[in-house]
Amino acid sequence: MDKKYRDLIAYRVCKNMPKDFHIEALKCQAIIERTIIFRSIKDESLKIESIDNNYIDNRIYQAVDDTKNLVIMFNNSPILAFYHVSCGGSTENSENILNRKIDYLRGVTCDECKKNKNVDNIIDVDLEELSSLFNCKVPSGFLDAFSIEDILKVIKKTESKRIESILVFNKEIKGIEFSKNLNLDSLRFGFRPIRIRFYTKGIGHGLGLCQYGANEKAKNNWKFSDILNYYYTNINICKVEEFNSNFPLKNIKIFIDPGHGGEDLGYSSENGLIEKEITLKISLILKEKLEEYGADVAISRDKDEYVSLDKRVSMIKEYNPDFLISIHLNKSKFESVCGIEGFYYWGDVEGKNLGENIMNILSERLNIKNRGIREGKVYILREIGCSGVYFELGYLSNHEEAKNFRDKEFINNVVMYMIEGLLKYYQNKMLT
Ligand SMILES: [Zn+2]
Ligand SMILES: [Zn+2]
Repeated sequence: MDKKYRDLIAYRVCKNMPKDFHIEALKCQAIIERTIIFRSIKDESLKIESIDNNYIDNRIYQAVDDTKNLVIMFNNSPILAFYHVSCGGSTENSENILNRKIDYLRGVTCDECKKNKNVDNIIDVDLEELSSLFNCKVPSGFLDAFSIEDILKVIKKTESKRIESILVFNKEIKGIEFSKNLNLDSLRFGFRPIRIRFYTKGIGHGLGLCQYGANEKAKNNWKFSDILNYYYTNINICKVEEFNSNFPLKNIKIFIDPGHGGEDLGYSSENGLIEKEITLKISLILKEKLEEYGADVAISRDKDEYVSLDKRVSMIKEYNPDFLISIHLNKSKFESVCGIEGFYYWGDVEGKNLGENIMNILSERLNIKNRGIREGKVYILREIGCSGVYFELGYLSNHEEAKNFRDKEFINNVVMYMIEGLLKYYQNKMLT
């Protein structure tokens, strides 16, 4: 996947970790960013950011390249790769922060952060501000006599000493909300009177990898895999060549329409080929292959039968696919005319893009003439209300091409390259 996402991964490493960190720590961050991207491609939530790669330095590209295609997996799925700046002494169990147990997000001690004073911080807050921030009443008589516990009282801490809930003037507030509202750096905090001064240790929620700890461990000769295995429990670091490599067309609905059928033969060639038979042959293989790639596929006919145009239209409308792919072959009175062409309905930009992607690849790989894709008043495209491409995959009146369609391997190749074009269309779409 690094072919496509190398710059994005590098950019995110650059943004999210100081670039003077040790190379092994940068590698950890590269794998984390790749895992986050990989996961968001899978659940389709990936947002491509605009990348300014001018300020990404070579060490970061090195970290990305040295960990090429590696992502963090747990039970064969990419993990939620949480990380934070500095844990303050130990990382946290997920249930204390996210309210749910995640097996690979277990707290571990982090001695490097225990010693690190650089991330300790203080914030002073007025009592008035505190009461208004959490919308709670200051008790009457508060000026005469009160103990610190009347203002703030910790109710619950996690095992690793982060504040889980706290009373603010007797109102219970979740630690995470409390620290967020006060802009405290972490959930590891204490306090004392004289205005209220908050002390924090560490920066961030404490889940997953601790960047400061990772950097210190790297300086002590830990390798990236050891560091990741330390901060994430029972994970595997795996290679992924391609995103969604098993089912790249998952959640995509295609309707295939093999032209003609039954008493409607379509064109025929001198060597005895009949259009309706070839369109069916191609369509059935296309359906099978698309399903292997994870797409949902419907077809207007799966045997030699007559299906009226109106019937086809109503089947397509009911199925409501992302694309209609209509398969036909052509004929000319001139033997020399050859090549593939396509049609899309007026204004159907997606249909046009898909058609172009498929036809470019077919023409390149099979060395057939690309006659181009055009806007066309094709009845079926006009009626269906979704995107679609109407292909004429070759001329039965041309000897060479008619011969090709006798060849099983040629037909398999046509299908394979159509799918390659479809994949390319979706990949381009994701990157723009
Ligand atoms: Zn730490
Ligand atoms: Zn036809």
